[in-house]
Amino acid sequence: MEKYGAECMITDNVKKLLDEIPEGVAVVAAAKTREAEEILEAISAGIGILGENYVQEMLRVQEQVKGEVKWHFIGHLQTNKVRKIVAGCDMIQTVDSLRLAREIDKRCSAIEKVIPILIEINSGREPQKAGVMPEDAVDLIKEIAVFPNLSIQGLMTMGPLAGDPEDARPYFVETRKLFDQLKESDIPGVEMKTLSMGMTNSYLVALEEGSNMIRIGTLIFGPRACSLN
Ligand SMILES: *Cc1c(COP(=O)(O)O)cnc(C)c1O
Repeated sequence: MEKYGAECMITDNVKKLLDEIPEGVAVVAAAKTREAEEILEAISAGIGILGENYVQEMLRVQEQVKGEVKWHFIGHLQTNKVRKIVAGCDMIQTVDSLRLAREIDKRCSAIEKVIPILIEINSGREPQKAGVMPEDAVDLIKEIAVFPNLSIQGLMTMGPLAGDPEDARPYFVETRKLFDQLKESDIPGVEMKTLSMGMTNSYLVALEEGSNMIRIGTLIFGPRACSLN
């Protein structure tokens, strides 16, 4: 009975979330550390996109979870692992360097695929964190836009992790401004249609600031440390 209770919880969580968010907002279920059964339940409840942080985990879960779901890579991607995931990936949300972009382009070219990507913005300007600094984003995007096997479709940001969701707001606002600015500058080969920001703690604030893609783990699956295995 315990088990069934927990399983229903994921279904309820997904339904509640999908009911609550405005039309036109996509939900990426952040699936790190979750088991296949949990992920399958989220899919049955209406989740259409899975977000994976780790290459090995993504490949393992893809063996177990097939069917009508899209796969987004949302973790830090090392260039030497790109080859392993491009075929099974519908979007890479974390492109933040020319070197990484070039490798993804090369590997996609080899399999004749054009892959949608987002540019990850280090909106908190934290030196150790992933993402391109906001002031360097336009130049990077112009350089990446020429790669024939990449399709730039928007921006992604994490923002500094904070206890209070309000603390995330300035970083979402800044990323949204950059998004609008890029949309207006109409760089050839660049579409600005997806703005991926907001997690369990911060998605309501992110939605207020113009996010149209939220990445949700805990709110769907429960706390990671306590998740049922
Ligand atoms: C884990 C993760 C999320 C979701 O985090 P929750 O707080 O569990 O909702 C979103 N985005 C990225 C990049 C993540 O690694």
